[in-house]
Amino acid sequence: METLRHFFLEHLAQTSGSPLALDIARAEGIYLYDTSGRRYADLISGIGVSNYGHGNQQVIRAIQEQAGLYLHTMVYGEYIQKPQVLLAEKLCSMLPPSLNSVYFVNSGAEATEGAMKLAKRATGRSKIIAMCNAYHGSTQGALSLMSSEYYTAAYRPLLPQVDFIDFNTAAGLEKITSEVAAVFVETIQGEAGYIKADREWLSSLRKKCDETGTLLVLDEIQCGMGRTGKMFAFEHYTIVPDVLLLAKAMGAGMPLGAFIASGQLMKCLSDNPVLGHITTFGGHPVCCAAALAGINFLEKEHLVSTVTNKEALLKKHLQHKAIKGISGKGLMLGVDLGTEEINRAAITECINKGVITDWFLHCGYKMRIAPPLTISEKELEESCDVIVKAIESVTS
Ligand code: PMP
Repeated sequence: METLRHFFLEHLAQTSGSPLALDIARAEGIYLYDTSGRRYADLISGIGVSNYGHGNQQVIRAIQEQAGLYLHTMVYGEYIQKPQVLLAEKLCSMLPPSLNSVYFVNSGAEATEGAMKLAKRATGRSKIIAMCNAYHGSTQGALSLMSSEYYTAAYRPLLPQVDFIDFNTAAGLEKITSEVAAVFVETIQGEAGYIKADREWLSSLRKKCDETGTLLVLDEIQCGMGRTGKMFAFEHYTIVPDVLLLAKAMGAGMPLGAFIASGQLMKCLSDNPVLGHITTFGGHPVCCAAALAGINFLEKEHLVSTVTNKEALLKKHLQHKAIKGISGKGLMLGVDLGTEEINRAAITECINKGVITDWFLHCGYKMRIAPPLTISEKELEESCDVIVKAIESVTS
């Protein structure tokens, strides 16, 4: 409908001069359908969200059931709300024993904010270290953890006492001293272009944090919930974080985030001052019911164990002389097309041909491939065929 497009551009605040502006009518499985009936394969899961597939019936039923019982009843932390409690219990049952206390929030950025506050309270320190090319959210605290001058300069002053080190680089670890409250790191860097943490480096980072009493905060907002072939990406490694951040896919399409730590650490938030972090809607019962149904679906369908095979299939079918390499892990792959120009042209061509891919905030020359975990082998092959043809058409 032309008026909708007009109102979209006129009345919805725009964040770029070139929104995709697909006019979405409905979504099912890996597909989005626009109002003209065109079908698009969503190979980015709405940026790492739709792990359990669009229109997942178990999730929708859970939402409907909970909506029929109660919506918001009270601000976070006061009432016993069954979906919230069951989800927290479920998450803790899947995590190491030291991660046994969940604080639910509304988004990834808010999970980052909560963890920053927790680290300050728990250590009595205020310095924070983040990685170059990280992304932890767009609120002012989370934005302070972003190294890019381009994205941050206009918003200074941001938080003081934040320092950056290179991901996967031993030299930077020297900056972690007994004055640092926390180190924030994505287990698989997302917006840097899907880059895995090196096994040895992550172990050294853990060791350095232990030596200095610094909290290690792992951001699995994009790489968690099965996307890498393990429920949590840090399970590929031999370390356990002090604080884990989740959001995006956890809510199964609903807005939900969490920072998870030990009950002992979390106690800081309940004393002197009390109400150390406050949220009205964090852990909304409908969102928690959806999240729990999503996890149950993931387990029932054994989806996580299909990821490694699907990664191999993607790599087998994404073959073209213009592809310089493929980074990432599981269904979280960055296809290196050498230049931003070729990548942008290929992405546009893919969308024209009905496959949605994207670039990365800090890496313009890589194409983002992160389909729902429910994608079938046939859908994978068909999507790869479109991508390879698109690359061919923009490079020949
Ligand atoms: N951390 C990571 C790794 C992310 O990918 C994102 C979102 N792209 C965030 C944090 C912020 O999440 P949100 O947009 O829900 O605030």
